[in-house]
Amino acid sequence: MKRFAAICESVAATPAKNEKIALLAEYLRELDDRDLEAAARFFTGTPFAARDERTLSLGGQTLVAAARAVWEFNDAQLGAAYREHGDLGAALGELVRPPARLALFDDALQPHVLKKRFDEIAAARGKNSARKRQAICERIFAACGDSLEATYVTKIMTGDLRIGLREGLILEAIAAAFEAPAADVRRSAMAAGDVGAVAVAARHGTLADIAVRYGAPIAFMLASPVQYGSGYRELQAGSWSIEDKLDGIRAQLHKEGDAVRIFSRTLNDVARSYPEVVDAAQRISGSFVIDGEIVAMRGDGVLPFRFLQARLQRKTVDATLMEEVPVALWCFDLLARNEEFLLEEPLAERRAQLAALVGADGAVRLTPWSELESGGDAETLHAAFEASRARGNEGLMLKRNDAPYFPGKRGKWWLKLKRELSTLDVVVVAVEWGHGKRAKVLSDYTFAVRGPNDALLTIGKAYSGLTDAEIATLTEWFLAHRLPVDRQRPRARSHEIPVEPEIVLEVAFDVIQKSDLHESGFALRFPRIVRIRDDKLPQDIDALGRVEELYREMLAREGLR
Ligand code: AMP
Repeated sequence: MKRFAAICESVAATPAKNEKIALLAEYLRELDDRDLEAAARFFTGTPFAARDERTLSLGGQTLVAAARAVWEFNDAQLGAAYREHGDLGAALGELVRPPARLALFDDALQPHVLKKRFDEIAAARGKNSARKRQAICERIFAACGDSLEATYVTKIMTGDLRIGLREGLILEAIAAAFEAPAADVRRSAMAAGDVGAVAVAARHGTLADIAVRYGAPIAFMLASPVQYGSGYRELQAGSWSIEDKLDGIRAQLHKEGDAVRIFSRTLNDVARSYPEVVDAAQRISGSFVIDGEIVAMRGDGVLPFRFLQARLQRKTVDATLMEEVPVALWCFDLLARNEEFLLEEPLAERRAQLAALVGADGAVRLTPWSELESGGDAETLHAAFEASRARGNEGLMLKRNDAPYFPGKRGKWWLKLKRELSTLDVVVVAVEWGHGKRAKVLSDYTFAVRGPNDALLTIGKAYSGLTDAEIATLTEWFLAHRLPVDRQRPRARSHEIPVEPEIVLEVAFDVIQKSDLHESGFALRFPRIVRIRDDKLPQDIDALGRVEELYREMLAREGLR
């Protein structure tokens, strides 16, 4: 990976797109097939292909522990390096030295060797899996010859290369390297969901063989969030449509002849768990691939996600369970119909074909949509939002009518609009140094509500919502108001810094859940800081009773629908 790292440095150093492409193309041409496959993938900044839902499950702590075992540095050295760079890869790179224990007879860390190690990490299972993963990381680090190599290997492991490479540029480099038409490279990348496989096929002139096929899951297209009540500027260009955002699990149904497979987000076949969906799909003629959401139902109304959990936990489903928690696949996209794959067709066309295929009710049903005529004025959107909530759904999905289906992509063609459940006033009890560009400020806050006898009980942790200026001011304040480490809360993580409970925040969230993670017995889903409440004192924060009340109200609302 030495040469890979050197190329990354050169790519990062030049702002010129054509130069980036030329550098990459030259390097890709040098590699043999095994290294080409791995390296092309690594340039996307992830250890695995887009369509591959495996992860390394490596927390920063494991990476640091592995690095420490190899290069033997202390906390102060790591802390200083991290604050200097704000990036774990660059920080660890600085601490590289000849490994204390030599990795004798190990292979040099070629891209394909690193790929093999990643496969081993993802496959580590069982009781000692954390230990096993760390041991493989140690082996990877011990094989790194210098700082730069360690830096970029770590960046791939943490999933963030930061060298200004979009996938589009990598595809252009592949086209340039192997003199393949750029459009063919792009199309096969969409079908394969794997830049590595595309690079190898481009070299061998076999791009035409990469096609979407029945029975092989296609990576799911994803949505980006839009803030409720923002100006909705994203919606001003192009023509958009609105659907309800359903609260279930994503599912991709493949029917070929009589065979039905249903792939979940992890791309496992979960058809056995949903016999009524399989049955309804079998009654529709022809072959097709449908994208949709499986939702728990009561009559024609939808039930919240909680109800579906009873179905998710079982591998086999009996008649009683099917009666207690019936489900339906709400279809919102059609990716293939008989011989034809439709990924490159605009959404409007895919949807028209879908509407001709599935009906408005039953266990495989069409998700209704409407056209957003108004160019996204807040009034229309908020009315549609309330109507969706009244139907028991989470919010809205906004989709561009002319967009192709981009497998594995979270872009600006699909937007999701949600709104918080409520807000709470809480007090900050512990803080942490941030990450990335926030590494030099205290930006991560653990906060608490008031419990019995005025005890402060933690309920969550928030990272987002404040401006850089606010965070800078708070950082100064927190540094001056640290509490001695022996005042650390019993369940706190080691890098949390306890602070005087004075700063009151208003936090918004989507859902309250019961949880053992925090002292209050509750956790907030997706907490965001709305503002600093300078006008409130710590004794004015919300009490646990208020949390319990909100929780009960939430359950009652769900029960009613
Ligand atoms: P999130 O999980 O918040 O990132 O939102 C994206 C998810 O919303 C998708 O992966 C789907 O599982 C789900 N979803 C619900 N309704 C729709 C819809 N009408 N169109 C697309 N995705 C939907």
